[in-house]
Amino acid sequence: MSLDFTLDKYRELCQAAVDSKYVLLTVEAYLTTQNPPQRFIVLRHDVDRKPQRALRMARLEQKLGIKATYYFRFNKKVFQPHLIKEIANMGHEIGYHYETLDKAKGDYAKAIRIFEHELEEFRKIAEVKTICMHGNPLTKWDNRDLWTKYDFRDFGLTGEAYLSFKDIVYLSDTGRTWGGKHKVKDWLPSAACSDSKEVSEVAVTSTDDVIESIKRGELNSIYLLVHPERWSSSMLGWLMDSARDTAVNMAKRVLMLRKGCKAIGSQW
Ligand SMILES: [Zn+2]
Repeated sequence: MSLDFTLDKYRELCQAAVDSKYVLLTVEAYLTTQNPPQRFIVLRHDVDRKPQRALRMARLEQKLGIKATYYFRFNKKVFQPHLIKEIANMGHEIGYHYETLDKAKGDYAKAIRIFEHELEEFRKIAEVKTICMHGNPLTKWDNRDLWTKYDFRDFGLTGEAYLSFKDIVYLSDTGRTWGGKHKVKDWLPSAACSDSKEVSEVAVTSTDDVIESIKRGELNSIYLLVHPERWSSSMLGWLMDSARDTAVNMAKRVLMLRKGCKAIGSQW
């Protein structure tokens, strides 16, 4: 059995998607299409750290003819204009991974000013039509709350990667579990089951499970969140990432106990 969460495994996942009946869409393509395909996968990447890994992933996808959405944070390590430009030039969508309520420590007026400025900086590099909040479990703010006071459409934006989606199966590599069990209403009829509206559970805990699910085509639509920094290309990198994720998962559990099980950000 091959290791999970390696670039080779990600290539297998992409190849399965390319060979399947699913149409791969960027977030913007999904939000702007008049006629969504019958089966589709929205492919989203949040670049929280290690932007070089995003570049590597973007190249891999480009070779397979895939276009995805890359949301970059605005900080010294991640916001690298040349790298972002290179990914944009491959045809991928570039988006802004904002965290301005955190940066403004809950001051909404300040947060929207920071948002405007950072969005402008992104737009010097590439067209930006969609945004996505970054969740930081160490802060007490939810960056999406900015849109309870303001409207992102006033900034020429089409959508927000959390707020603009509903009724779609969300599979995320956060915690390396793909979310475990998923309740799905759109289970397709099989020989054994003719009721297509029955609520079923699909267990997805490894990337191989995701690949098998795509091959079987059992879900109508999938929203796939992949953090490029989690997928390493060397054994040393894999061991270090794996240890980090285990430590982070333990820290999250401690935080959840302290906060009384408030949903901890899915973005770590
Ligand atoms: Zn994030």
